[in-house]
Amino acid sequence: RYYFDHAATTPVAPEVIKVITDSLANDFGNVSSTNYFGQQEKLNLRQSRQTLAEAINANLNEVYFTSGATESNNTVIRQSALAWQNKGRHLITTAVEHPSVLRVMEYLAQNGFDVTFLPVNEEGTIELTDFKNALRSDTILVSVMYGNNETGSLMPIKEIGEILKDHQASFHVDATQALGIEKIDVKELGIDFLSASAHKIYGPKGIGLLYKDQKIVIPPLLLGGEQENNFRAGTTNMPLIMGFAAAMKLCNEQNEARWAIMYQEDKKILLDHLKDSGIDFEINGSFDKSLPQILNLWFKGVSSKVLLPLIDLDGYAVAAGSACSAGSAEDSHVLLAMYPNNLSRVRESIRISFGRDNQREDVENLADDLVKRVKHLERKDS
Ligand code: PMP
Repeated sequence: RYYFDHAATTPVAPEVIKVITDSLANDFGNVSSTNYFGQQEKLNLRQSRQTLAEAINANLNEVYFTSGATESNNTVIRQSALAWQNKGRHLITTAVEHPSVLRVMEYLAQNGFDVTFLPVNEEGTIELTDFKNALRSDTILVSVMYGNNETGSLMPIKEIGEILKDHQASFHVDATQALGIEKIDVKELGIDFLSASAHKIYGPKGIGLLYKDQKIVIPPLLLGGEQENNFRAGTTNMPLIMGFAAAMKLCNEQNEARWAIMYQEDKKILLDHLKDSGIDFEINGSFDKSLPQILNLWFKGVSSKVLLPLIDLDGYAVAAGSACSAGSAEDSHVLLAMYPNNLSRVRESIRISFGRDNQREDVENLADDLVKRVKHLERKDS
């Protein structure tokens, strides 16, 4: 079986598994304990935090561990609204964010806040003029993802950061799909909050990070103990934190840029094969202005509900929409936002996402099998 669904989650790297099991087996101390066992773990925690802070050019006291990007997103948006509601009640986001952003924004909109959901163009990204027009003196938070999890489409993060330099609004970036692929420098990009998750970078599920600029103060979402500098209560999950740091280290050692180039090549090979075959397809989004590991394709006239199980039978794991909404009867909100007048396109699209375990040959075979299936289904339809 071949896995082409790395945007949903990645396999855990063997080196990471070893770090986690070693920690589980040997280092059970509580970080908050003043005894020897606790203090050993405190050192491990500091080192792990350092690794993640360096990866995004943050200071040590600006990185907090959470249970994942969902919790990080919830924390930033809910708690910013709570903290700053007297400064303003307007928030800006995009129509194509992950549900862990959208649902919170909708909740706020139902509870006295005003939320602008910026539309996207056919390439799946926002227009800067729309953003500039939406920005108001009472805007308190702007939340825009780095790259989309269904299409890979990149957002104009640097430009937004630049505009917000002279504005009271804080800038939150959900970089869950970009960490470990793109070089992210929170200082250079003018980012105040950043969310990410270990299980997209060959680390374990259930652990993520929240970067918060040290100048910014919001109240914690989870109340309780004084862990994470009083910002996130709950006994520190050392095995997963160490696994997250080990996964991040591997990204650094193996050089993020190298992976990006490899995935871009995989993408090109797949597209060239499809083009040569003469089947009717289009990219949803853009080839260039996209995270390299994600490719969303429209096979005209071929329902993804039919194509997906067949390709799965052939041995390839791909996706329709995202894992978060797959299984539900709902159409992808991302593709709907990109192609509001083309429901067929929304229902005839699949996502292929590349990873370290994909060999060139596997990519070619996937392309060949896709062509076979699509040609057969096209014939059936006509
Ligand atoms: N944001 C984006 C863009 C994602 O792709 C995901 C994972 N699908 C999340 C947030 C949620 O991450 P987690 O699973 O760590 O809660």
